[in-house]
Amino acid sequence: MSELAYPYEAPASQALFDRAAAVTPGGVNSPVRAFRAVGGTPRFMVSGTGPYLTDADGREYVDLVCSWGPMILGHAHPEVIAAVQEAVARGTSFGTPAEGEVALAEAMVERVAPLEEVRLVSSGTEATMSAIRLARGFTQRTKVIKFAGCYHGHVDSLLAAAGSGVATFALPDTPGVTGAQASDTIVLPYNDLDAVQAAFAAHPGEIACVITEASPGNMGVVPPLPGFNQGLKDACAANGALFVSDEVMTGFRTSRAGWYGVEGVVPDLMTFGKVMGGGFPAAAFGGRADVMAHLAPAGPVYQAGTLSGNPVATAAGLAQLRLLDDAAYATVDAVSARIQGLVTEALAKEGVAHTVQTASNMFSVFFTDRPVNDYEGAKAQESFRFTAFFHSLLANGVYLPPSSFESWFVSTAHDERAVQRIADALPAAARAAAEATA
Ligand SMILES: *Cc1c(COP(=O)(O)O)cnc(C)c1O
Repeated sequence: MSELAYPYEAPASQALFDRAAAVTPGGVNSPVRAFRAVGGTPRFMVSGTGPYLTDADGREYVDLVCSWGPMILGHAHPEVIAAVQEAVARGTSFGTPAEGEVALAEAMVERVAPLEEVRLVSSGTEATMSAIRLARGFTQRTKVIKFAGCYHGHVDSLLAAAGSGVATFALPDTPGVTGAQASDTIVLPYNDLDAVQAAFAAHPGEIACVITEASPGNMGVVPPLPGFNQGLKDACAANGALFVSDEVMTGFRTSRAGWYGVEGVVPDLMTFGKVMGGGFPAAAFGGRADVMAHLAPAGPVYQAGTLSGNPVATAAGLAQLRLLDDAAYATVDAVSARIQGLVTEALAKEGVAHTVQTASNMFSVFFTDRPVNDYEGAKAQESFRFTAFFHSLLANGVYLPPSSFESWFVSTAHDERAVQRIADALPAAARAAAEATA
């Protein structure tokens, strides 16, 4: 699609994108950053402050992506920046244990009751990959149940019917994943406990674990129906499998104790990333101490990382977690509710069929009037309306995720001025969505 199709230009971003495309596949280091689903030129950002991002052309946007979740205090929060500066001045990596990683692990364990022990890693992908390996090592079983539309990072065995970029680009599967890896993965429809029971019945003694997003945000926001997560936990317990709750997105975002804090279902293993790193590469997996005891060097299941528990990353994460008190979550929840209300109002006024779905302060808009409970439902929306909506908002200084299969994120920094900018931009975007054609 040509940039000329859009009512504004981004020459500096275009020049950077041209340079990027010459040295990097597709011009980006993570597919969701490209604008392939919506067309046009991805904006290259040069700075962020509070709720705003500024691009290479000097245009400012209210950011509703927040780095895909981590920036829950907004960009360049002074206390997080100070903690990072203090840490970085003491050296950037030691390759030895250091106090920061202990303090971050303690802060996590204190907040999330089922988390008895944690191991720090550098990305959410590593966290889920390691949790699956540990579940297999612990149970001595091979098969894994996952749900269509749930994204757990780009782990080979978990890419089948994954959400996020895999959903955005409608990739049926990915080359490079072997038949053996794929055949050990059982993909079931989300929110379907009968399918889970049937899979356990069909594979007695073979299923190591069920992994699910605690509340999915990678096919748009599709929260678990009441009883679904508890049903998964019960099915796992009854069949000798582990229940792995992926809280990479929801952890320390949907409440002080993540989605666990909202629903209270106790997993065997959990995975974390995003918010806990304060904008740096820090992630973790953890849970039952008797299961974690199987990890090297305590046990035989190997897992390691040169930069795991990096002192700068742990300082950023710890500073961010310390600032996330009840008042902070109340602020994020309130601003999220306000923006949801404004979006609903604007779209309703133009008669655009839509459904706003929420998981505490995470939310997304589906362009359909039917509630979305699974990936099939998410795919049934009129995504072409999102494209028009997205570009209108972008032109008017509001930055949404460039895909209709992603959660929107807000922060404590989204103040009255930022909300007003969104309110001002919404009527034209709703009109664009109403007038859009497939
Ligand atoms: C983002 C995400 C991941 C992957 O994390 P990375 O740090 O991008 O590797 C895994 N699971 C969920 C639920 C996520 O949202």
